[in-house]
Amino acid sequence: MKKIAIEEAFATESLIDAWRAMIADGAPGEPGMIQHLGRLINTNRGWGAQVAERLVDLGDIRVGEMDANGIDMQLIAITSPGVQVFDADTGNALAAEANDILAEAVKAHPPRFAGLAAIQPLAPKTAALEIERALGLGLKGVMINSHTKGEYLDAIAYRPILEAAEALDTPLYIHPRPAAPAMMAPMFERHLEGSMWGFQTETAVHALRMIVSGVFDDFPNLRVVLGHLGEGLPFWLDRFDRISSRGRNATDAYPFWTAKRLPSEYFLENIWMSSSGHNWDPAVRFVEEVAGEDRLMFAVDYPYEECKQQVDQAAGVKVKNPEKFYELTARSVFGIT
Ligand code: MN
Repeated sequence: MKKIAIEEAFATESLIDAWRAMIADGAPGEPGMIQHLGRLINTNRGWGAQVAERLVDLGDIRVGEMDANGIDMQLIAITSPGVQVFDADTGNALAAEANDILAEAVKAHPPRFAGLAAIQPLAPKTAALEIERALGLGLKGVMINSHTKGEYLDAIAYRPILEAAEALDTPLYIHPRPAAPAMMAPMFERHLEGSMWGFQTETAVHALRMIVSGVFDDFPNLRVVLGHLGEGLPFWLDRFDRISSRGRNATDAYPFWTAKRLPSEYFLENIWMSSSGHNWDPAVRFVEEVAGEDRLMFAVDYPYEECKQQVDQAAGVKVKNPEKFYELTARSVFGIT
């Protein structure tokens, strides 16, 4: 059995430079840039500096960590919030460069790396073309760092991206980022906007918006991957179904719940999950019990989490089928041969 870790992050030098310039300008409209990301990339010491160094490395440091901890392959993607904080043209250019760099790194490290494509959703048609181009370079899916300027993938404008992903049969990985501006204020006051809690809230809302609005009725073969054990959603599935059934019988009161089926039906057919940063035995086994052994894949969340801690913790999890959890489901979902 091989171990594939599927939510592993990288950044290009030019992306980090562009983030720094944006933060220096006050990052208008992107409060998470300063309060969250600023802590990470505007430091030259401690944990933030270590993460920044590891993000831009697609070579010895990364492979060394993998070797030291028994990880055979990383599925690598552009780190949060990616290019989605920029204007369309800047984002398109940074995404294309990141995809070229990642594809080269994948080719240079067989079979240790696989990658996901970055896109700028603000330019949906260009993004759709970039998905196709990136898959042609050998990348295995698409990374979306949750909201784009406060908008989510249920917005009609983003349909070209969903159409492309479905038509090309490639998964969309929806990864956290600091919450949309309208959701931020109560979190900032206690520094909860990041991976402590805000990431999960933001991304769970994103997925749930897609579910209740019927995105998966329109794109029944669309495949979405969520990290962090499905961002908490499996814990709620039973309640989602009961409450949405109630809402369905009172459509005047719930005009936005237009999905044809129960939330759990989409969740269990269109969504896969990783264990990134959450390789905690009771939680992993709960998700496996709710969603079955074919929907959950191992991840570390490198370099934000320590490989050793996550690998050791996952080794203590009594998953039903370790081969599926560590290797086979990832191969099937992302088409990794
Ligand atoms: Mn992550």
